[in-house]
Amino acid sequence: PEKGSLVLELDAARKEFGGLVAVNDISFTLRAGEIMGLIGPNGAGKSTTFNLISGVLPTTSGTISFLGKRLDKLLPRDIAKLGVGRTFQHVQLLPTMTVIENVALGAHLRRHVGVAAAALHLERKDEAELLHEAAKQLQRVGLGEYLYEQAGNLALGQQRIIEIARALAADPVLLLLDEPAAGLRYKEKQQLAQVLRQLSDEGMSILLVEHDMDFVMNLTDHLVVMDFGTKLAEGKPDEVQKNPKVLEAYLGG
Ligand code: ADP
Ligand code: MG
Repeated sequence: PEKGSLVLELDAARKEFGGLVAVNDISFTLRAGEIMGLIGPNGAGKSTTFNLISGVLPTTSGTISFLGKRLDKLLPRDIAKLGVGRTFQHVQLLPTMTVIENVALGAHLRRHVGVAAAALHLERKDEAELLHEAAKQLQRVGLGEYLYEQAGNLALGQQRIIEIARALAADPVLLLLDEPAAGLRYKEKQQLAQVLRQLSDEGMSILLVEHDMDFVMNLTDHLVVMDFGTKLAEGKPDEVQKNPKVLEAYLGG
């Protein structure tokens, strides 16, 4: 998609769990090349929103569109095939496999739901092509020198970036990142932010759920703040940061 064109649109997306409204008619849009943050206190509904977009949970009502197509009735694997890539809150690399093998599985994640399933379905004839693509993506994110290291031997920050490379190997249009900066050291966060900025400059759209406010404030173009399932505020990070409702949700409780 062309830079600035509409990639993702939530229109009154809603999720109820029994009597609890976890996501209360949330609407927002994300444009090509944009880095958008979804923030809010614990229990605000961020992860649930993420799960609605990736199809892990069905919506109760409302619509979610991606490149003009409805996503909200599709299965996770079909959503992935359309070009929605994601990483998980906890690192999901196979630690004894090499970095390049871990990333090569990414292209298969478009066809198979889990990493283990992808590993089982890896066919010899595809292997050279997949490894070539994996090396390309690892070079793209600055990890070209670690191709043949065991993934489990690298620092957590590098493992997070490997997971992003794995998502990239499936050629996504939109990346969903679940707390990518969690547990990282300052330097690692800076390195991660640099990678995400580069991807955004290349036209990638990125939506991240993140607790680390400094990380979010420095990186994102656009923020949506949730509290108790509803959208509390939206806008540029510096505007949102000054919003009294946001300050109250974070500090006043
Ligand atoms: P956040 O990610 O912002 O911390 P969540 O989206 O995980 O918030 O949760 C929003 C609300 O929905 C919370 O009250 C949580 O307890 C509830 N919730 C989340 N997932 C489920 C579930 N599978 N079943 C019932 N309630 C859930
Ligand atoms: Mg959560």
